[in-house]
Amino acid sequence: MKAFVDQEVCIGCGLCAEICPEVFAMNDQMTADVIVDEVPAEAEESAQDAADSCPVSAITIEN
Ligand code: SF4
Repeated sequence: MKAFVDQEVCIGCGLCAEICPEVFAMNDQMTADVIVDEVPAEAEESAQDAADSCPVSAITIEN
């Protein structure tokens, strides 16, 4: 599984980094970055949760 954040869409709410810090972290521009190449198996559920919870649907998950 891979995760992507659309930097043009992210509003920097921080929710994804709170829900799934294994995969998402806030950067200096106050948007979220994906910090892993592959989502670790144990973080797949929370990464999907983060994507579902993003208020502007900036997160894409690819299986
Ligand atoms: S939840 Fe969405 S809007 Fe909020 S920081 Fe993450 S990607 Fe950006």
